Amino acid sequence: ISSLKESVLVYLDRSGGLQKLAEDCKPFNGTHQIEAVYRFCIGVNPSDVIEVDPVLGERVLCDPLGATALFQSVCFLAIKTLSLVEQIHTESQVNVILKLTHLPPFPEYTLDLCSFPRGHGLMRPVSMEGLVIAMTRVTKYTQGARFLCINDECPCSTGFHHIRVHAPGATESATVRNNFSCRVCSSPLKEDVKFRVLGDKQLVELIHVKALDVLSAHQLNYPFYCFVSPTRTDELCNSMRIGRLYRVLGIPAHVQEWTGITWNPREVSASFQALLKATAGFRWRFSAIVAHCFGLDVAPPGRYNTLKLSLLLSLVQNRADAKDTFHNLDLLAVTTDTLILDR
Ligand SMILES: [Zn+2]
Repeated sequence: ISSLKESVLVYLDRSGGLQKLAEDCKPFNGTHQIEAVYRFCIGVNPSDVIEVDPVLGERVLCDPLGATALFQSVCFLAIKTLSLVEQIHTESQVNVILKLTHLPPFPEYTLDLCSFPRGHGLMRPVSMEGLVIAMTRVTKYTQGARFLCINDECPCSTGFHHIRVHAPGATESATVRNNFSCRVCSSPLKEDVKFRVLGDKQLVELIHVKALDVLSAHQLNYPFYCFVSPTRTDELCNSMRIGRLYRVLGIPAHVQEWTGITWNPREVSASFQALLKATAGFRWRFSAIVAHCFGLDVAPPGRYNTLKLSLLLSLVQNRADAKDTFHNLDLLAVTTDTLILDR
């Protein structure tokens, strides 16, 4: 590990990362405010790292958490040795974010949104391309928090021994909760709220560009409708626009469980049940066929599919508890012909 840390230092020195670290530390010294964690973004070019040390390069690409820990340790040493930030006392206060400049152009490093989340579970960076169809407002998340041991005789009752930092894809409760216990004496920990550091986050929903065709009459065989929600944090918030195509580089994580649809099969007609059975395993085929056939008296099958699906969805939403905000329905329609939408 010490040789890997040496390689990190060599890389940071060669790439100008050390100089940038010193620059990034300057604003913290102007204030007397002490915070639980200090966040540093480090640009990492995997090819350059591999040139310095192939083992380190492999870590960066395949074990990003391990690589981040190495960079964190080296940055802490640099900060202490060069006295860059007085207020930093422990390594855990240094929150390092590695920003990879690119990934090798191999299939292992590409995530096809059509296969997500089936291929997920890999905790390493991948690149993916998709069309932004929805995004949330910018909300706050906890970047880092300081916890103190409630046992007055324990060394962890003061200082910066228990620092929790937000990990990519983690939920808020993974960072801040009230049932953590002390590593030293196992007493409960209490958060020192005045040290909490907040950041900005935004969820963005991406679909595979081919999914746009899923409702056109000639493409009912297209089996997948895919989405993924990359979390854009901090400096990346508000950097994406709905309707544009983006290539995103990051670590896939299951951020949120999508609520499944449940119903009582006895209330559904036999032909619908048969259709559902026949289309099982194809995520959007059922909806597409139902939309295709909907409103036969008004428009022939296969025409105005988008509109038909919208109407069907609005019927589903039109329930007694429609006041509940959970049942609000947001629709994004993409078309070259606005006339269809007007109708
Ligand atoms: Zn303790």
